[in-house]
Order: sequence, then structure tokens, then C-alpha cells
Amino acid sequence: MRKMLIAGNWKMHMTAGETEQFFREFMASLRQPPFREALGRSRLEVALFPPFTSLYVAAFALEEAPRGFSLGAQTVHWETHGAFTGEISPAMVEESGCRYCLVGHSERRHLFGETDEMTNLKVRALLATSLRPVLCVGETLAERERGETFTVVRRQLLKGLESVPAHRLGQDVVVAYEPVWAIGTGKTASDDDAQEVCHFLRSVVGDQLGAEGAESLRVLYGGSVKAENSAGLMARPDIDGALVGGASLKSDSFLAILRES
Ligand code: 13P
Repeated sequence: MRKMLIAGNWKMHMTAGETEQFFREFMASLRQPPFREALGRSRLEVALFPPFTSLYVAAFALEEAPRGFSLGAQTVHWETHGAFTGEISPAMVEESGCRYCLVGHSERRHLFGETDEMTNLKVRALLATSLRPVLCVGETLAERERGETFTVVRRQLLKGLESVPAHRLGQDVVVAYEPVWAIGTGKTASDDDAQEVCHFLRSVVGDQLGAEGAESLRVLYGGSVKAENSAGLMARPDIDGALVGGASLKSDSFLAILRES
């Protein structure tokens, strides 16, 4: 049985002070019903991805969180150290208290030129540490309209996971399907469309890398997820959680998604 993962990607929002404020409200709500009772026995995992500068504040605040709450970074460099001004290594991310790290988010790909080769280097570098990569894939609107959705996500998935041993897949890697046209636009993929692509991604992993990894691999959906649409998406058999952007910035709206999941 796969554990549901609800992840909040804060992108370039939230100073350290704002992060402190978020967690004050968030932790206070978690101590109240219905969360207090529900979280103790739930199969839900929750991860927040603040900017690097907020990680220590967030890690400190999460020390009091129930089991199953963790942190992730939004990107990483693949080298262990060296003259790479502005970059952050996997060990630095690990030491900041993270369990996860996003790789190949569409904003990294489309605004900062991150290629499939780079995503693969990052995935492999993360797997050399205790960190778990969350590999993001997704087609643009033009690609969808040209009927290329499956070709694009298949390429991003297989290139991103190249040379990753099959036994690391199910436990240590998460895949997130985020159609670019649904990110920050308020246009969510329909439950059927999201399920179809998530199912396809799982079957590609099954065909190419082994059935066992595919069965335990978690595949998330992201793109304008909010409390109003999350329950329908999460109920689909191949959608194992959500990668939430805008709605994770406010404690209330993020908690509302947790309540629905
Ligand atoms: P929104 O939820 O704001 O559409 O962002 C999705 C996303 O990019 C999460 O990584």
C-alpha cells in the first residue's frame, strides 16, 4: 500500500520571518481536532519545500510536528562541492534537515534551462545521500495540443531516471506529474486526464524498470491543486498525492487540502 504524500512547494515566496509565522499557525492547528486525532493514525505524509533561506527555521518548527511531516529543497546541484557560485550541494540540503528535493520542476526547466541530462545528474547525486528526489515531469500547452503529452513525459521520466537501480525506485524516488499549462493558472487537469498520465508514468516504469518498483512508486499530481479539487484527484488509483504551489503558502488553505486527502 503506497503512502499518500501531500507536498507544498513554496517557490520564491516566504522570508524566514514569514516562514516562522506560517509554522506558528500551522503547528497550532495540527494540535487541534480534527488533525490531532486524524494524523496519529493516518497514512498521510506531508512535506514542505521552502526556499533555502527558510529551511533552518522550518526544520526547527517541525521538530514538534507529528511523525510523517518533513522538509524538502526546491533544487540542488549535482556536484559534492567546488567552485559553483550560488549553488547548493546535496550534503548541504541534507544537513538543513531535508528528506526530499525537487528535481526538474517545470520552472527550472523552462525558466532556467534545466535539461533532462541535468535532472538525471541531480537524481543520481541525491540518491548518493539520504535524500529522496521528487522528479517533476509535464508537458506544455503546445505539446499537449500537438498530441505529444505521452512522448514528452515518457522522455523526461526515463532520461531523469537513467542508471537509477530498479531497487531504489519504489522506496526512494517520487515522481510528480505537473502539466505546465495547469501550474499557477487555476486550470487543473481533470481527474481523468491526471489519472491517465499518472497511470501511464507508472506503466512506463513497470515496462522499463521492473514491476515491483512501479507498484510501490509514488506518483503525485501538481497544477492548481486546492481543497475544492484535491479529494477527486486523490481518489484516483494512480495518484498518490499532490504537489501544491499557491495553496500551500497559507496555513489555512494547505490544511484544508490535508483535511480533504
Ligand atoms: P500551483 O499549485 O500554484 O499551480 O503550482 C503547482 C506547482 O508548480 C507545484 O510545484
